[in-house]
Amino acid sequence: ATRSQAMSSDTPHAPTAVEITHPERLIYPQDGIRKQDVADYYRAVMDWFLPGVVDRPTSVVRCPDGVEKTCFFQKHALAGLKHVDTVALEEDAGAAAQYIVPRDALSVMELVQFGAVEFHPWGGHAETPDHCDRLVFDLDPGPGVTWSRVVAAARLVRKQLEQLGLVSFLRTSGGKGLHVVVPLQPATLWPDVKSFAHAFADTLALAHPLDFVAVAAKAHRKERVYLDYLRNTRGATSVASYSLRSRPGAPVAVPLRWSELGKITGGDHYTLRTVPRRLAGLRSDPWKGIDTVQQDLQRVLDAIGAHR
Ligand code: ATP
Ligand code: MN
Ligand code: MN
Repeated sequence: ATRSQAMSSDTPHAPTAVEITHPERLIYPQDGIRKQDVADYYRAVMDWFLPGVVDRPTSVVRCPDGVEKTCFFQKHALAGLKHVDTVALEEDAGAAAQYIVPRDALSVMELVQFGAVEFHPWGGHAETPDHCDRLVFDLDPGPGVTWSRVVAAARLVRKQLEQLGLVSFLRTSGGKGLHVVVPLQPATLWPDVKSFAHAFADTLALAHPLDFVAVAAKAHRKERVYLDYLRNTRGATSVASYSLRSRPGAPVAVPLRWSELGKITGGDHYTLRTVPRRLAGLRSDPWKGIDTVQQDLQRVLDAIGAHR
């Protein structure tokens, strides 16, 4: 809000909407979904989408010629953006790079105009990049894993987190699997978040070796759910809630109530065409309360006697 106010006082005729060029261009050719449909989708879900990306460094997957042609996973700011803020963040080598930071609807729509289909925020904020406030367990089913086993795996992750006093939230990825999201308040330094996530994944894999695997090697994933804890390092991203995915059918990553898990058929259950209907029918946010949960990971680590 502050940004658009600043713009309107600087420039009396500041735009309130971004012009979508090539609105007829097919972005999902198999589904007949055009660039204008993508823009209309993001405009329609904007109030639900924004809280997941605002003030977070956010990578985008751009598919300028549609999802069947080359798409680009873009971490850094691109030239020509007028309404998208950027922040300089230190990277592995110690050098800084400019990261995209959505602040408002206008910035999201400009990224869509520049071909963005998917949005992938950090689990931390641009102003406090060394801290994480959203831990994500990314459940990746390996070959041969039926959906009912993915569902059971997610419930087990939730139960195990509950035993540590941690409340978690559920989202379809829009792809093959599910994400279990743990809000952290106060935000926690990345190395602590990573060591917790790693230990948690290893422990589940040891206790349930036929169901889970915690090592990334593809050879180990057959018939098991890979508990990908590597989303939990500084600079890593997870797909945003309500982001489209660049796959046939235009699936969407959708927050769910835990009680809904039994009713869905896969990580790609919801699409560009069905999400607006779902949102119109909701009585309340499936992730209601995620921003007010107070859970201090440091206290959990202290309680179980873990130390860095
Ligand atoms: P699925 O359910 O099919 O696994 P997903 O979104 O969880 O969907 P993953 O392959 O498990 O996909 O990736 C997890 C996250 O890693 C993504 O959501 C994304 O934020 C990030 N990621 C994916 N591709 C890249 C990439 N090329 N570079 C950096 N990060 C990526
Ligand atoms: Mn995944
Ligand atoms: Mn993964």
